[in-house]
Amino acid sequence: MENDREYSDLSMSRAECPKCGALWINGQHYWSGTGVKGNDLDLAGLVCNKLSDFQCINPSKGQEGGDTWVKRMEDLDAFGKKYEEGESQWWNK
Ligand SMILES: [Zn+2]
Repeated sequence: MENDREYSDLSMSRAECPKCGALWINGQHYWSGTGVKGNDLDLAGLVCNKLSDFQCINPSKGQEGGDTWVKRMEDLDAFGKKYEEGESQWWNK
């Protein structure tokens, strides 16, 4: 049966970054702490580009365009401004 082959261990590749501990299963990145599906580029911006270690196996290491802390802080700022200034009472629905 076709299905049996898909679930066989032989078809599964698992790679773990020795530096940031990120995990790739069949080429899909998962966050090591939470096991949530991630994205190489976000990982690069948040972790790997900061460490910039030759041991890092992230295929997107050194690439720009993913999520970064700067971007996250900007998002938080925007969020704070929008809601603290009372433009929208999101809590009061
Ligand atoms: Zn890494």
